[in-house]
Amino acid sequence: MKKTLSTLAIALVLASCGSSKNQEATTKVKEPANPTKYAETITAEDLKTALYVYAGDAFEGRETGEKGQKMAVDFIKEHYIEDGVPAAKADGNYFQDVPLEVMAPADINLSVNGKTFKTIEDFTSVSSAKDGTLDTKEIVFAGFGIEDTNYSSYDGIDVRGKVVVIRSGEPKKADGMYVITGTEEASKWSNFRQEFSSKQEIAKSKGAKALLFYHPDIYSMVANRFGSASGRMNLAGGGEDMMYMFINTDLAKALVSDIETNEKSMSAKTEVSITYKSNAKKISSENVAAIIRGSEKPDEYIVISAHLDHEGIKDGKVYNGADDDGSGTVSVLEIAEAFAKAKKEGHGPKRSIVFLNVTGEEKGLLGSRHYTDNDPIFPLANTVANLNIDMIGRLDPKREKKNRNYLYLIGSDKLSTELHNISEMVNNKYMNIDLDYTFNDENDPNRYYYRSDHYNFAKNNVPVIFYFNGTHDDYHQPGDTPDKIEYDLLENRTRLVFYTAWELANRDARIVVDKATE
Ligand SMILES: [Zn+2]
Repeated sequence: MKKTLSTLAIALVLASCGSSKNQEATTKVKEPANPTKYAETITAEDLKTALYVYAGDAFEGRETGEKGQKMAVDFIKEHYIEDGVPAAKADGNYFQDVPLEVMAPADINLSVNGKTFKTIEDFTSVSSAKDGTLDTKEIVFAGFGIEDTNYSSYDGIDVRGKVVVIRSGEPKKADGMYVITGTEEASKWSNFRQEFSSKQEIAKSKGAKALLFYHPDIYSMVANRFGSASGRMNLAGGGEDMMYMFINTDLAKALVSDIETNEKSMSAKTEVSITYKSNAKKISSENVAAIIRGSEKPDEYIVISAHLDHEGIKDGKVYNGADDDGSGTVSVLEIAEAFAKAKKEGHGPKRSIVFLNVTGEEKGLLGSRHYTDNDPIFPLANTVANLNIDMIGRLDPKREKKNRNYLYLIGSDKLSTELHNISEMVNNKYMNIDLDYTFNDENDPNRYYYRSDHYNFAKNNVPVIFYFNGTHDDYHQPGDTPDKIEYDLLENRTRLVFYTAWELANRDARIVVDKATE
């Protein structure tokens, strides 16, 4: 039925009366809610019940893209629905699609002046390109493939839509000093870490159709590495516009006969034909995202995350991943339930809390990378902090201190001193867990700071805390089963994250990022 203007106007007046009354009511209450009542709804028993299902054999180790992973996302979604925690996405869908692909060597035919060259043996493709065919009678040799302030290989040549050949290294002066740096030190154009991407980027920006890179020192190493990269999973990118290949000496000389001594850019009448067909296999997977909307600052977000995937079945054995990261997953669900209960009783958080269960972590933090790099459901600039939970149900047998009521915290002081202080304050006030910062050391060889999903937030200057119990003999083994979880500790640790999120969401001012990078 269509509303007439007058009834609509009345409805609006009534609605606005009602809402101002409600506002008065909430401002009168004002006394800060006590989070302990809600923290106490997080119990060892509930965590155990959920984890025995989630890390049970029926879930087949939750391998990304497989049946067990689909069961996992359904389980998580059902929990949110049951607890009255709405979907984060505006369309009401709890799932965020994460398109993935399994890499496989592409089928590439390449010939120069009618002579055929063989993939891997003579050349190797180092990035996935769009399928297509390229036939040309002219190539461009762009010397070292450099464009810098005082030296350019691209001056006066047009490479748009062309096959471009370049060589490794950078120019030196007669005295042996590098032209670009003026010193003995190489620039980004020839140091090992940056040469490949720097030269790729510049050729791409100039509109080259294919870049054939002659780097004799590392050819076989690269060929082996990329030949064996097949089977690796990655975010599906749809392929680059520019093909990018490494070529061996035979092929390089067929293209530019004096390539080993020539530094000067030029174009040449050379027939090149390339067909490229990707063999990457598409995989469908998904993150799960739910939200409790903030009452006062709904557009500021605390993201609480855990990865939902694990290693699947290998050699007929289920890798249950009860600790990794079943523990984090059920922890996030219990925290969501506690916040939902608080909200129902009129004590919802001032800022919004996002519950993010990410896929593909074991494949290289893919689900969280998709969220931060491709499709943040909520702007990262409005994301106050990420509390990431990955393995909090076990004990580290190598830990020297004997207090079992401990937890490793990583990253808490890296971007925001305030976050670290709040985390400590909250723990002292409510939990008294022995917070261990052993792995927070910059020089820790384990590099845990880079190894779970929080890193994708941290690299965007979103302050993070990574909660972690350390590794043990069952880490990434079939023995990581729910019967070995220390449920009393899982309860304590989950409550700590809950209290920390509560404080971050309810304090007056958003935490300050005082140590942003770049
Ligand atoms: Zn994990």
